[in-house]
Amino acid sequence: MRYECPEMHGLSERPEGAGYPCIRCGTPVSGRRLRWCSDECGRWFANNHWFNYAALEVKKAARRDDGYYICVGCSEVVGQVEVDHIERAWGAHNQKSCIHHQVNLRVLCIPCHRRRTREQASETSPTTAPSMPSTRR
Ligand SMILES: [Zn+2]
Ligand SMILES: [Zn+2]
Ligand SMILES: [Zn+2]
Repeated sequence: MRYECPEMHGLSERPEGAGYPCIRCGTPVSGRRLRWCSDECGRWFANNHWFNYAALEVKKAARRDDGYYICVGCSEVVGQVEVDHIERAWGAHNQKSCIHHQVNLRVLCIPCHRRRTREQASETSPTTAPSMPSTRR
């Protein structure tokens, strides 16, 4: 399943500036704004397209009142989690992408995340040659 938002399409081609629709909600932008009608829409965009921001939000949402998290993988209550892409990001972590939508992210405990990373290491992307098996990284 792909998490692409229609708002994102044509992002690079669409004209920017007053009178053009907000990338998120379609409301015409005004004043000195370029892409978003409001700070809220700008925040939404950052929080769903940049991994750093999205991961922070996902962690914040998963954090319980007592400061602990529940791992989505094994349901253990843990003090520390890492944010995992449900659909692989294929190294796009530092790029603006719809792969970072918060619906495509989840929190995993460190052992679960490690196991998943290991499993993924055996999947090869179409452009990557199979690498030698190794026991440590
Ligand atoms: Zn908007
Ligand atoms: Zn776990
Ligand atoms: Zn998007």
